[in-house]
Amino acid sequence: MSCIFCRVVSGELPSSKVYESDLVVAFEDIQKVAPVHVLVVPKQHLASIAELSPQDAALLSDIQRAIQSVIAANGLAESGFRVVTNHGESAGQTVFHLHFHVIGGRVLETSLG
Ligand code: AMP
Ligand code: ZN
Repeated sequence: MSCIFCRVVSGELPSSKVYESDLVVAFEDIQKVAPVHVLVVPKQHLASIAELSPQDAALLSDIQRAIQSVIAANGLAESGFRVVTNHGESAGQTVFHLHFHVIGGRVLETSLG
């Protein structure tokens, strides 16, 4: 298995997990850009959000549950945060397994691109 996040999901690679459900895992990014930097990752391999269909309702719900858990655990509703997902190299995607960055705990630059 060559996909890094499939290997994290299977436990072959270590991670600092902060949330897990049947469909999703959330763990600390190894190269944090802010005090809170968690990746919410479906256990199923999807290359990016472009492969996520509206019919994946159960998965979308679990992704939002994981995001809410990270918000609550870190007081991000008060302090502010950003959720980012990248598709393609030109957008900065380096791991081609769908993931949502949840970033907070400091003042974030306003630029999106
Ligand atoms: P992206 O550039 O949007 O594809 O984001 C990939 C993110 O995955 C980067 O922020 C990396 O620091 C992070 N990352 C890569 N490998 C690991 C890993 N083994 N455990 C945790 N985070 C990782
Ligand atoms: Zn994968």
